[in-house]
Amino acid sequence: MRIAFIALLCCVWLQGHAQPAVQWKTLKQAEVAFGCTNCLWDGDSILFSNETDTVRFYPGRRRASVNGYTIWLNVLPEGNVSNGDWRLGAIDLDFIKLGILTATNGEPKQLHVMLDPGHGGVDGGAQSKAPLVFSEKHLTLDLARLVGARLEEAGMKVTYTRTNDVAIALDDRSGAARKAKADIFVSIHANFSPNALSTGTETFVINPAGYPGTPEGSRARGFQIGNANDYLNTLLGYSIQSRLVEMDAKAPDRGLKRQSFFVLRETSCPAVLVEIGFLSNPSELLKMLEPEWMDTCADSIAEGIFDYASKVDALNVAVREKRNREFEQKKAKVEKEKLAAAEKIAKVIPVADTNSTTVVQVEQPEPDAPATNTVEKAVIEVKPVIEEKPAEKIQPAATNASPESIFDFYSTK
Ligand SMILES: [Zn+2]
Repeated sequence: MRIAFIALLCCVWLQGHAQPAVQWKTLKQAEVAFGCTNCLWDGDSILFSNETDTVRFYPGRRRASVNGYTIWLNVLPEGNVSNGDWRLGAIDLDFIKLGILTATNGEPKQLHVMLDPGHGGVDGGAQSKAPLVFSEKHLTLDLARLVGARLEEAGMKVTYTRTNDVAIALDDRSGAARKAKADIFVSIHANFSPNALSTGTETFVINPAGYPGTPEGSRARGFQIGNANDYLNTLLGYSIQSRLVEMDAKAPDRGLKRQSFFVLRETSCPAVLVEIGFLSNPSELLKMLEPEWMDTCADSIAEGIFDYASKVDALNVAVREKRNREFEQKKAKVEKEKLAAAEKIAKVIPVADTNSTTVVQVEQPEPDAPATNTVEKAVIEVKPVIEEKPAEKIQPAATNASPESIFDFYSTK
């Protein structure tokens, strides 16, 4: 009992320690970012809309929606709209504004897609209950093949982590994507819940470093390989999830969620994990086993990938521009501080007057004696400012960004 209590304390400390101090955006800043003059508050939700997009938040909930599709926030918004003190996590504004809404359609990029049918071999994955017993591993393989055929038809290169009923370790799955130098990794799964009524689709991407995942109780982690693609992950996840939602108007939209699944955190290219429906729901399983439904589902996943392919270049440009802006801002800040420090010194040291015979005498300290005169005190005071670490070098694109630069990007220090 005592050990359990200590373990709980350690767990709480670690979780608290990993969570960075939240940076917030005010209601006004959110309005400016979403390009609307006034948000609408109907007593239930807050709506930001402009000519093309609508973004809705629900007080007290991490659930939000972008153009009608559900996404889950990393930070619960705080405050009250009627008081005007409502505020949104800066990281969420950033992912919505840049990751989802900035990217405009361009020429679809011919991607190399790694499809990962979940489970296989001795690992059957989720299994439905009698009388209709069915293993997840078969459904995921069948669906991956259908998706792959559509992508290849459109000229994309497709590779698979498995093409038959074999067990594959998780690190071999992410390793395969690295080895193949795939552009994106799409892991296909079917869901399971003890509640036989659970229904609908959901898509996961990795949670940002320092923030917990969407499911209750999931923990925050430090920077993972997958976090190098946080913006691209968001766009890919949103693109596929929104297409899956369109496929079945009756099925609930469980949304774009975040969770640190192994294949999401260890894959170096943008990666998503799709849960296409619940095997544990008998009527949903029957629906999923219909060939027409499988075809529609494969169409939806492929369409989501095409949507991403037509926006990824624009997003890469936007991310690069954002990082350049931030680099310039940091540089300007350091220069300003250097200037202020130099002015402080100049005020203390008298300006040499060549016509004057006055000699300014500065007492010289002993070689190892602590600084005592005014000039040296001033230098000591400003030294930390002068030696402040300069801004880190910008990485050329999101996909090439180093872990350190991304972590620094979200650092609140
Ligand atoms: Zn699974």
